[in-house]
Amino acid sequence: MYDYIIVGAGSAGCVLANRLSANPAKRVALIEAGPKDKSPLIHMPLGIALLANSKKLNWAFDTEPQEHLNGRKLFWPRGKTLGGSSSINAMVYIRGHKADYDYWASEAGTDVWGWDRMTELFKRIEDNHRFGATETHGRAASSP
Ligand SMILES: Cc1cc2nc3c(=O)[nH]c(=O)nc-3n(C[C@H](O)[C@H](O)[C@H](O)COP(=O)(O)OP(=O)(O)OC[C@H]3O[C@@H](n4cnc5c(N)ncnc54)[C@H](O)[C@@H]3O)c2cc1C
Repeated sequence: MYDYIIVGAGSAGCVLANRLSANPAKRVALIEAGPKDKSPLIHMPLGIALLANSKKLNWAFDTEPQEHLNGRKLFWPRGKTLGGSSSINAMVYIRGHKADYDYWASEAGTDVWGWDRMTELFKRIEDNHRFGATETHGRAASSP
């Protein structure tokens, strides 16, 4: 018997499983449709070029024909492996604009999505080897 069953071991599912299983009293099942993330292509940055066409590690969807694209379909890759789309992504890291976060926070009527709070969270998940811990960047305490 499980306390939690998480369907999809992608970016969100893995974080959720990690957080929930931190409590040893809780039993967590994480279910993934794709295979393990053993392919070397996942672990080398340039692998994205080949993973984009993989049918084994990529759902490789096509959209419906798009009215505003003259009826064309778009290729819509999504990861199908442990790590989900983060295992086949381009490793680009860009934070949004301060004004957007603050706008969302004011629209939602809560500070949770505001820039100050989000910056704290961005720093917590960042392990910046170039700049180390600064006012805007995070460096995991456990890393060398
Ligand atoms: C090619 C590509 C390049 C990208 N490049 C970047 C980038 O450079 N920078 C960036 O920030 N973001 C990038 N992204 C976006 C980013 O990777 C995604 O936004 C993010 O990983 C989505 O996380 P998620 O948890 O919502 O979904 P996913 O990580 O896609 O996880 C969903 C998981 O659920 C599984 N699943 C689905 N259905 C079932 C089922 N019925 N049963 C069991 N498991 C199931 C899937 O196999 C998958 O593992 C890229 C995405 C792609 C596809």
